[in-house]
This record gives sequence, C-alpha cells and structure tokens, in this order.
Amino acid sequence: MQPFIYADNAATTALSKQVLDEMMPYLTNEYGNASSLYDLGGRAKTAVEKARDQVAAAIGAEAREIYFTGGGSESDNWAIKGVAEAMAKKGKKHIISTAFEHHAVLHTLEKLKKNGFEITLLPVHENGIVRVNELEAAIREDTALVTVMYANNEIGTIQPIAEIGEICKKHGVIFHTDAVQAVGNLKIDVKAENIDLLSMSSHKFHGPKGVGALYIRKGVVIPNLIDGGAQERGRRAGTENTAGIVGMGKALELAVSSMDERNKKLCQIRDRIIDGALKIERSRVNGDRVLRLPGNVSLCFEGVEGESLLLMLDLKGVAASSGSACTSGSLDPSHVLLSLGLPHEIAHGSLRLSFSDDNTLEDADYILSVLPEIIERLRSMSPLWDRIKSEEKN
Ligand SMILES: *Cc1c(COP(=O)(O)O)cnc(C)c1O
Repeated sequence: MQPFIYADNAATTALSKQVLDEMMPYLTNEYGNASSLYDLGGRAKTAVEKARDQVAAAIGAEAREIYFTGGGSESDNWAIKGVAEAMAKKGKKHIISTAFEHHAVLHTLEKLKKNGFEITLLPVHENGIVRVNELEAAIREDTALVTVMYANNEIGTIQPIAEIGEICKKHGVIFHTDAVQAVGNLKIDVKAENIDLLSMSSHKFHGPKGVGALYIRKGVVIPNLIDGGAQERGRRAGTENTAGIVGMGKALELAVSSMDERNKKLCQIRDRIIDGALKIERSRVNGDRVLRLPGNVSLCFEGVEGESLLLMLDLKGVAASSGSACTSGSLDPSHVLLSLGLPHEIAHGSLRLSFSDDNTLEDADYILSVLPEIIERLRSMSPLWDRIKSEEKN
C-alpha cells in the first residue's frame, strides 16, 4: 500500500493527541467564562493563566508580557500597525524590514506605505540571511521599527536575531520579530536577544489553529488591538478562547521539552533528503545549508514546474509545498525565492518539504525513492529542459 507522508509542517501541523486531551474539558464541561466570578469561571481563568505561564517560559518572557491573539497574522498586524501608530505621533515614520517576510508582515507594510510611512526592505542575499551591517546602515533618526522574521517559512533560514536586537537597542529603535516558524523549534530568549515584540502561532507547533500570542516587552506602549472588556489586560478584548489557549500552552511546553532530541532527528531527515536530492542534476538548495530550521528542505530543480511536481508527489502520497501557501494557485514565483536573486524560471521549479516529530527517516527514504523519477518525467515533457540541454551541448 502507498504511504501517506505529510511533509508540509511549515504550513500547519497536526494537533497532538496530548494537546487535544488537555483541551477537551474546556470544549465540554469546563465551559465557564474566564471573567465570571463563580468557580466554573475561575477554573477557566486559572487554565488561561497557566497557559500564559507556559508560553512565557518558552521564550524567557514574563507572563504579563504575553497577550493571546487569534494567530500569527493577527500578532504581526497588531505589533507592526501598533508601533507605527504610536511612533508616528513622535514624528517617526520609517520602518525597516526584509524582502522575504511573510505576507502578514509585507502586506501590512504595504498598507502603511500607502498611509505615508517609508519602508526599507533589506536584501537577504543568496544565502537568505540579512546582513547586520546593512541593517545598521539603514537606521535613521526617524526609524520607528525594525521587523525581521526569526526564521523564514519557505527556505527555513535563521536570521541573526540577537545581533539585530543589540543594534536596535543601541539605536533606541523598537524591534519586532515574526517568530512563527521559530517558536517551539529553536531556543528563544527575548531578554537576551533584546526583542521588544514577538509573534507566534499555535498551529505551527502541534497546537490548535486560530490562536497565537504577541509578546510585548513591558515598557513598550502600543495601542489596544480590540476595545471592549478587560480581557488580555484590556488590550485585546473578547471572551477568551479557553480551549485554544490551553492547547497552545500545552503544545508549546511539549515542543520545548522535546526540542533537542527532536531537532537531532529532524536534521538527519533534512540532510539525508538534501544530500540525496542534490544528486539529481541541475538541482540546488535554497538558502544557507547550516543556518536553517532543522525540519526545512527547500530545493529548486531546473526545467521543472513546481506545481506539476507537487501534483506528482501527491499522487505518490507525499504532501509538500512549492513555497508559501499564499502564493500557490498563482503563477508568480515566490517572492522569497526571487529575493535570493534566483531567476524566474529556476524559482518556478521549487519544492519545500517541512518535517515534524511525526516524520521518520523512512519518510526521507521514500521521498528519495520517488523524487528522481518524477523529476525525470517532468523534464522529459519540458521544452525548457530541452533548451537547457541543447545549450549545454553548444
Ligand atoms: C504561518 C505563518 C504566519 C501566519 O500565522 P497564522 O497563525 O496562520 O495567521 C505568519 N508568519 C509566518 C512566518 C508563518 O509561517
């Protein structure tokens, strides 16, 4: 029988059974409103505060610096628009970011640009990593915010976050990081790394969808996201998603406690696939080979169309991605791959495989057993490949 291999954990992860068990009471008998004064409400409140402690502990923050939100996109929007609004009042309307951020950041910045902000998008070069000297040189008197992702969702490259934090602190600029791909996968310490705001999302580490958090360092003042009741210290009103929050806390605690062991295994899976795939002619790894998430494989195959590759892998029982979920369905190559300086026709032939604890080395072997023949078949039908081959001869 054909296996089913889920290799798209950067898009979302499966909810873990342990997490579901922890959530279940709050979806059934423990239905109280965390703001109510009787015991049923009090127990919901206690559960939410336990989750806040778990999330805070995972990133070296204090519990009162954690605000639960509806996910990573919401946290990014709140952080960036919030800082922009607060700093515009002080006449600071310049924001520094990178060319390969998630759309939750890039589209937010585009909107701010329409509203009179000036945006500098730093290049990430061929290895998919920003250069701190270029970042420092971009800082101006009127720079309100630096927002740089912790690890990229398509190519997995890890940014020099602690160095960026240090530079921002030195220049008195607020520093936000979209750490949705990093939280639960990498060791994070917001204090040591001088991070002022950090976005995370539960469904990227085996928690439920539709819940996330924003860390706001105490002393950083941004406007409330939602006005209403006193939930989340009055900054994001609305009855708490108790079950979701409990699930997020549990999932993150589990992810952090098993991190070292899991990452050892993920690096083996990752490196086995990269080594195997690079034996295919005219293939390449996107982004730095070492400074990347343990579970991320990002490849390009010349003369291959990424979407066709995904369909063929799907027929073989492998769920993968060509890049970001947001760009699939459109014919434009991913902005992330273009930001590495790859030409359009190479960027089109991209494949992202992203792994989690649920994957095994056998998965890697299976993928490597089907990949070369799929590539060969697609190339045999590709006029682009014919051209590459005939140019080779000349
Ligand atoms: C998934 C993702 C997001 C969006 O998070 P949601 O919870 O799905 O809104 C933002 N940034 C990065 C880097 C992501 O990978």
